[in-house]
Amino acid sequence: FSIIVFLYGGIPFLRMGRDELEDREPGMMALISLAIFVAFTYSMGSLFLSGSSSFFWELVTLIDVMLLGHWIEMRSVRKASGALEELKELMPDTAEKITENGTDEVRVSELEEGDKVLVRPGDSIPVDGKVYDGESSVDESMVTGESKPVDKSEGDEVIGGTVNNEGSLRIEVTATGDETALSGIMNLVEEAQKSESRSQKLADRAAGWLFYIALGSGLVTGVAWTLAVGFGLTVIERVVTVLVIACPHALGLAVPLVVAINTSMAAQNGILVRDRIAMEEARTIDTVVFDKTGTLTEGEQSVVDIKAVSQEDEVLGKMAAAESDSEHVIAEAIRNEAEDRGIDIPESSGFESISGKGVRAEVGGIEVHVGGPNMLEHLEVKKRFEDFVERSGRKGRTVVYLVEDGEVRGAVALADRIRDKSREAVKKLQNRGVEVAMLTGDSEDVAASVAEELNIDTHFAEVLPEDKDSKIQELQNQGKKVAMVGDGVNDAPALTRANVGIAIGSGTDVAVESADVILVKNNPKAVVKLLNLSDLNYRKMLQNLFWATGYNALAIPLAAGIAAPVGVMLSPAVGAGIMSLSTVIVAINAQLMRRKSINP
Ligand code: AMP
Repeated sequence: FSIIVFLYGGIPFLRMGRDELEDREPGMMALISLAIFVAFTYSMGSLFLSGSSSFFWELVTLIDVMLLGHWIEMRSVRKASGALEELKELMPDTAEKITENGTDEVRVSELEEGDKVLVRPGDSIPVDGKVYDGESSVDESMVTGESKPVDKSEGDEVIGGTVNNEGSLRIEVTATGDETALSGIMNLVEEAQKSESRSQKLADRAAGWLFYIALGSGLVTGVAWTLAVGFGLTVIERVVTVLVIACPHALGLAVPLVVAINTSMAAQNGILVRDRIAMEEARTIDTVVFDKTGTLTEGEQSVVDIKAVSQEDEVLGKMAAAESDSEHVIAEAIRNEAEDRGIDIPESSGFESISGKGVRAEVGGIEVHVGGPNMLEHLEVKKRFEDFVERSGRKGRTVVYLVEDGEVRGAVALADRIRDKSREAVKKLQNRGVEVAMLTGDSEDVAASVAEELNIDTHFAEVLPEDKDSKIQELQNQGKKVAMVGDGVNDAPALTRANVGIAIGSGTDVAVESADVILVKNNPKAVVKLLNLSDLNYRKMLQNLFWATGYNALAIPLAAGIAAPVGVMLSPAVGAGIMSLSTVIVAINAQLMRRKSINP
């Protein structure tokens, strides 16, 4: 019976052990093979040669427990590293393609660019696309980490794998298969999970040593017991137990499991880690440099202040009406503000653009002008709101006036608006003891006012794109560990230079080569999350390495029979059980990471 169990149940271990030896990377399987091989030959030898003692019972239980342990291990490991599967499952299998006579249910893989698809309320969006009809909100949290649903209407882009809420959307397919954002994200996650990290190398090396430590311990145990009680069954039993218990399996999994879970937690929060070393280093960052435009600010002009002789809304409505034909960024900002405030925009006609000065139109039958200081000169009207204009100027804002009946009736100040989330992000970073700096090509006035508003310690203004990376170097020369947050386009050299380069969200474009980390969503708060994840990553790795090596340090002497004088002797099967248990503990400890909150 033992021969059958050895040949059937033991073969997988022997085969894998042989592979390890062939690759000159002896490890766990080589040790197990050695253990069962020793047990088997000894027993066969004693059966045929002396016929006295044999070891068959122990051999069989050892192999059985090992198989069972291995099976349990595989299960918990698969559960821990199933992050990619979770992402894959976001994509539905079928879609409702819109045809000439209604809709057709087709496989998502059959969709092509330009096809039109209907997404019903509650359905997952099957591909990347652009909405051409319908209004709804979409839950994009699985891709961007942003919990608030995002409103979508005609012209908006949607991401495959996200979930449509209350309305129907008709979308035109813009990307399928490997081209979609989710595929890009999955590739990055896979790459990051594979990318070697420093702690991984350390653990691998330790696991390599453990093979020789196990071999050495086995040898010492054998010699010591032979000297003490003479060669016999006990000696073989001890040696086999030591070999089995010293298997470095837990150590081999300690780091990869943490990496797998950490990377997927990051991805679920819209943080894509391209380089694992960056994730390990992030927790040591003491300075975060933000590129201002498009990162701390919205990156486009908007109305940030209004002054009016009458109702603000009335002034803004008239201005928006006069601007309704203009393509100028100022016109767009004014129209957006009016729309955001839900103002009824009055009828207007007779548009005329006065180049370099502004616009003229008739609003409600009355002639109005909207324009900058040049316009006031041109119309020869008296200046007004000196305080407002002076204050805005100091902050580097652009002022545009509304002129009606030959007098200034209102004015708006335009600036690149600071994101609400920037304030929180800066504060949270400072609370962590991280210094925050800002980098911009804008004038000193603008930079200083933004820095002041955000309470940022250091700012660099009027920096040309090509000089951004030398500013980073300057900080590094002061002994600082710097993370740079930018848009990944004109910041590329600075992102590369920084200890950790973070490219901030372009939504679907995740292929920013120069960055170590990509934030899917344009939200500076994710930087804080990244640092929290890095902390968590480090803690879990340490814990796991402790569990894996600590177990060996304790269990090997016990297996060797150090406690024999007080009557404690581990059998090989119990040894195998403990070995598997340590792996399961490491896997569960890694799993527990998911329970931790990384929200700033
Ligand atoms: P531009 O050379 O087109 O950028 O315009 C120069 C200045 O003219 C701007 O800074 C504004 O003060 C004013 N201006 C131009 N177009 C407009 C417009 N559509 N609405 C208000 N002001 C404008």
